[in-house]
Amino acid sequence: MGEYIVEAKNLCKYFKAGKNQVLKAVDGVNIQMKKGETLGLVGESGCGKTTCGRTLVKLYDATSGTVLFEGKDVSKLKGKELLGFRKDAQIIFQDPYASLDPRMTIGEIITEGMNVHFHMSEKEKEERVNDLLHKVGLNAEYANRFAHELSGGQRQRVGIARALAVEPKFIVCDEPISALDVSIQAQIVNLLIKLQREMGLTYLFISHDLSMVKHISDRVGVMYLGSMVELASNHALYDHPIHPYTQALISAIPEADLDEEEGKTRVHLEGEVPSPINPPAGCRFKGRCKYAKEICGLEMPELKEIEPNHFVACHMCGNKEWQEAK
Ligand code: SF4
Repeated sequence: MGEYIVEAKNLCKYFKAGKNQVLKAVDGVNIQMKKGETLGLVGESGCGKTTCGRTLVKLYDATSGTVLFEGKDVSKLKGKELLGFRKDAQIIFQDPYASLDPRMTIGEIITEGMNVHFHMSEKEKEERVNDLLHKVGLNAEYANRFAHELSGGQRQRVGIARALAVEPKFIVCDEPISALDVSIQAQIVNLLIKLQREMGLTYLFISHDLSMVKHISDRVGVMYLGSMVELASNHALYDHPIHPYTQALISAIPEADLDEEEGKTRVHLEGEVPSPINPPAGCRFKGRCKYAKEICGLEMPELKEIEPNHFVACHMCGNKEWQEAK
């Protein structure tokens, strides 16, 4: 295995959207993830972050580009290798209720993946279910219950136990807290952090909640209309956002301290998000960007390293004119 557990190279996922129309949900995204790290993926709804996560775990086949898992092209995996990838790469869904079969007990739901990937006796499975329930903060009694008997937070804990049951290496956490009460959200995020430390897991954490992403992530990628517009370490992105879109997102995060909240300058975005169906040429953010110049309507900016390990897709960011305009 090379340096990365997961890599996406120029990843594209398009959907047909009527006659001669193409919805470019993910359009040329590059991602590299090291084992044990958490990459947060943020952006407004419809920016392609969920489609990106689902394509990385092969719930969707990529339209073009490559996904490598432990150095192997996942589109070429077959038989045992594909089964191994299905075990190693799991997903935790946004809506824990919709993702749990209402006719199955919690024990059966957690055991489902184990039946496919491991040869275990009934006793071993029962012990493992109990152990997993304990790991996610539920007692063994829950194995005999059904999803409708559980609260939203408990159901998401079951969703996490189900993903962990097959001993994965990489988990896409697809908006895992957005359907939960605010009081429960931090508990689930802290549980994910604890499990990651214990089990050496690698996470792609998808969310529109920038505060939670800051809490859990080592690095953060910002998506806008199918493209990655900024990618940096957690601290660099939150303390020193460079792309105009990221600056607007970060400025909208409420501060816990009232004095800081009052003194904060908000960057208001003008205009609407364009449609991902036949998106405009050039930079997709140009209709809302106060720094836009002629070139922005002509060429799509590439993601470039503007500062060490800080990547930005913008024709203007970092150049003299932009610095002066700030
Ligand atoms: Fe704004 Fe142009 Fe940069 Fe796009 S490329 S973010 S339009 S300055």
